[in-house]
Amino acid sequence: MSADLLRTLCALPAPPGREDEFRTFLIEHLSPYADQVRTDPMGNVFFIRKGKGTAPRTIMLAAHMDEIAFLVRHITKEGFLYVQPLGGFDPRVLDAQRVWVHGRQRLPGVFGTKPAHFTTPEERTKAVPLEDMFIDLGLPAETVTELVRIGDPVTLDRDLITMGNCYTGKTLDDRVGVYVMIEAFKQFEASQDTIVAVATVQEEVGVRGAKAAAFGLEPDIGIAVDITIAADIPGIEERNWCVRLGSGTAIKIMDTYSISDPRLVEFLRTLAEEQGIKYQMEILPRGGTDAGGMQLARSGIPVCTLSIPCRYAHSVVETVHQDDVAASIALLRSFCEQSHRFPTTANSVAK
Ligand SMILES: [Zn+2]
Repeated sequence: MSADLLRTLCALPAPPGREDEFRTFLIEHLSPYADQVRTDPMGNVFFIRKGKGTAPRTIMLAAHMDEIAFLVRHITKEGFLYVQPLGGFDPRVLDAQRVWVHGRQRLPGVFGTKPAHFTTPEERTKAVPLEDMFIDLGLPAETVTELVRIGDPVTLDRDLITMGNCYTGKTLDDRVGVYVMIEAFKQFEASQDTIVAVATVQEEVGVRGAKAAAFGLEPDIGIAVDITIAADIPGIEERNWCVRLGSGTAIKIMDTYSISDPRLVEFLRTLAEEQGIKYQMEILPRGGTDAGGMQLARSGIPVCTLSIPCRYAHSVVETVHQDDVAASIALLRSFCEQSHRFPTTANSVAK
């Protein structure tokens, strides 16, 4: 595994709808492994490896490029910024964090916070709502208005590091999914079916990119690759852990956006058993992935999600286990090589 590549993927900014810089990197990195590369008007990018079979079907893999981020919505006359969130941020984890403001130039900033000396006992027990949080750029107001405009994106700042047997940092949702997808895409030897790895846009604002990508591509099967919630931490009962960090790749049975095709779930499970890949089953009571978008394209597509267990999702200390990342790559690679064994049923007309 290449921690350097994962670190690069995590560091590139890609707010929903502004994934350009990330996409450019990915095209440069992955094109040598693809027979064909194309993009669509929304900005989804498709890496295609043609199937060797006589009647290859189309398998769509999807991992999202975008990260939860903000847009500048107001600049005060003193030069402080207020922001509009893109995606589900928890204000509890934003206070006193460093950010990048992508204005005329890239500017470092901080979410300012009231000093403890000035907070009331009640304020100290509560998170500041996002609408009251502000960014300080450390610049005079005139310079701020010269360099920053309403609508400029803001992303969080935190480098990926190795911690024990884990990686921790920001945007592992879903850069670790992109990493798993591109490593499997590079590594699989040959496939009867055509494998299309799609790096999607705007997942964090309601799986918008995957929906359009699947409509255009018309795949026969869709596999999303994303993180899932590992809530195996103190203070949460074991029955609510969802999945466990370090216990393998997670095969999704359902979340609130999609119910995985049960045959596909069984097929992935069989592959994992055959190959001796560590896996666990996942039911996520809240949240969704690109599978939800793919499933509803055209007249419906069988989907499943391969999940990488992640603690502290949607914070700057998202944490994944190295073994789970490796297991996810192994299972996805095996799926690409073996997908022809999975039968799909075409639309049938009853007379
Ligand atoms: Zn995600």
